[in-house]
Amino acid sequence: MLREYYCDLHIHTCLSPCADLDMHPAALVRQATEKRLDVIAICDHNASENVRYVMRAAEGGPLGIIPGMEITTSEEVHILALVPGLDDLVGIQQFVYDHLPGQNDERLFGCQAVVNEKGEVEGINERLLIGATQLSMNELIGTIHEFGGLAVASHIDRESFSVVSQLGFIDDDSGFDALEISRAMGMKRARERYPELSQYTFITSSDAHCLIDIGTAPTVMKLAAGTFEEVKMAMQRREGRCVIG
Ligand SMILES: [Zn+2]
Ligand SMILES: [Zn+2]
Repeated sequence: MLREYYCDLHIHTCLSPCADLDMHPAALVRQATEKRLDVIAICDHNASENVRYVMRAAEGGPLGIIPGMEITTSEEVHILALVPGLDDLVGIQQFVYDHLPGQNDERLFGCQAVVNEKGEVEGINERLLIGATQLSMNELIGTIHEFGGLAVASHIDRESFSVVSQLGFIDDDSGFDALEISRAMGMKRARERYPELSQYTFITSSDAHCLIDIGTAPTVMKLAAGTFEEVKMAMQRREGRCVIG
């Protein structure tokens, strides 16, 4: 049976240098559950080591977790990769790391902590996660699709790191499965602002970097379950699944 699911498909953890350190797996699962979200996706900058721990923290509970990553292309465009399972994420992660130069400077950019479901630090990621990969947007979208994933253009209305800010337009055949609107603009204003993008599915997300922001701009989807496959069908408007609003 189809019902409304509240989805926040763009949440960072303490692995992102710009996110709060209290965004560790157990805390963010607790917050998302308290906010009555049904599905969340974990999307750290160019990295994904905390995804498995978020999944463990959510095990046995009602919250659906979609593995993901927010990848920066060579054009400095942010793209969300949402994938069916951890194996797919590991594959994309290897590809991203093969094309991500540089080392993090913790004093400049912040800490990049890998934290398990018990809140214990497993390690520190030393790569320059805030940097851009050497992957072009088209190359990255193709790779995400090869791994069975969904490619979503992040916060297209923002004045930095969005496909619109960097390239000025979005082609009809860009390959994006959906376009994300930031919570500052919202779905309704975005439809008025971007009539030329009417064929695309829009979603809104919190892009939360701190706990209180989780769930502040959920996308309501009509789904049969809180899974990747159902979210994919909603983005493709198949079998009654859809984004509401
Ligand atoms: Zn972003
Ligand atoms: Zn983000």
